[in-house]
Amino acid sequence: MVMKKDGIVLKKGKEAIFHNQHLWIFSGAIFSFPDFFENGGIYPVYSASGDQLGSAYFHKGKSLSGRILSFGSKDPWEAIYSHLDQAIALRTCFFDLKVTNAFRLVNGEGDFLPGLVLDQYGEYLILQSNSLGADRLKGKIVDFLLQKKKWKGIFEKSSSSSRKEEKLPDSIAVLWGEEVEELSILENRFSFYVNWKRGQKTGFFLDQREMRKKVGELSSGRRVLNCFSYSGGFSIYGWAGGAKSVDSIDSSSQAIEWAKRNALINGFTEKEGKFLQQDAFLFLSEDDLNYDFVVLDPPAFAKKKEDLPQAMKGYRELNYQVISKMPKRSLLLTSSCSYHVEESLFQTILFQAARMAKREVQIIGKHIPAIDHPTNLFHPESNYLKSILLYLS
Ligand code: SAH
Repeated sequence: MVMKKDGIVLKKGKEAIFHNQHLWIFSGAIFSFPDFFENGGIYPVYSASGDQLGSAYFHKGKSLSGRILSFGSKDPWEAIYSHLDQAIALRTCFFDLKVTNAFRLVNGEGDFLPGLVLDQYGEYLILQSNSLGADRLKGKIVDFLLQKKKWKGIFEKSSSSSRKEEKLPDSIAVLWGEEVEELSILENRFSFYVNWKRGQKTGFFLDQREMRKKVGELSSGRRVLNCFSYSGGFSIYGWAGGAKSVDSIDSSSQAIEWAKRNALINGFTEKEGKFLQQDAFLFLSEDDLNYDFVVLDPPAFAKKKEDLPQAMKGYRELNYQVISKMPKRSLLLTSSCSYHVEESLFQTILFQAARMAKREVQIIGKHIPAIDHPTNLFHPESNYLKSILLYLS
């Protein structure tokens, strides 16, 4: 084995990670760290025979130790800037800002930029850093973004669970510009208020845009229940799509308040449906479900792999309640944003729920991944969200 003073050397045979262009290096693949190593820093990575495979940032002692920024001898910053340019070009090409001005500008590993998420809300950007290495990239990335466009503000909202794995504190801060807590966005011509600071994640669930559109297309004449409604995204599309009524449920009173406000600014009032601050599990277990279309978009039940058995139980129970109670010829859009629950497993859970409910159930649609949430073919792990549209005959 060679020793390298300036970089990380991988164990023999582990260079396959680089050949497959997967972006993560686990601790078991590492043979040696350099003497003057600092957590969060960017280092060249060498094969056991001393060839440079690429560059990555590292956090020693963590199972997920390194995240790759560039391949071969390419300068990592050159790669970061070119991936940022590539990410911006992809969105610029497909979004008409007069229709939708809120989208994920950078989708972490999906855009070859590990640990970094940037959500664009109109003329504002919210940066989310998910690792110590990404924290260190922040300053230069903000400078680069400011050269690209005249942003009104760039704010940081780093509070993901992956930070906790690295024992990093949350970081909520203004990186550039004057602080504005509440932003106003357009999504498919609908208006939404987004409170990036107090809201969940970066303030809005951009990842469900395509499915909200789908719900709008199928809502005509139906009584819709938007369960886990957050700020009312699916509800607005339901009303606009001609639903007879739309009820929205969320356990957070703040979310319900935002949902009401978003309904109002889009021209819908409480006359057209109820807003209930309630536990969805309780609601579904107690009441009859006189709805023709139910949307279930719960928070991730499995944040870690160890949560999987409990999460599977949760998804099964939730979907069972709905499938067993909904009337004939109704629709259920059911989602899971747990990365650890793969689509095939989610489908199996739905099968179990349908079998328990003794109903005939057909799949009539699946999640449509949006352009702003690309999946890196070499690193499919960033694809966490799955939605399945069911017809209950
Ligand atoms: N569908 C939403 C996003 C849902 S995020 C959208 O399109 O924007 C998940 C939501 O579930 C959060 O708003 C959270 O407050 C809510 N939630 C979490 N646990 C809940 C429970 N037990 N009952 C009802 N709502 C819950």
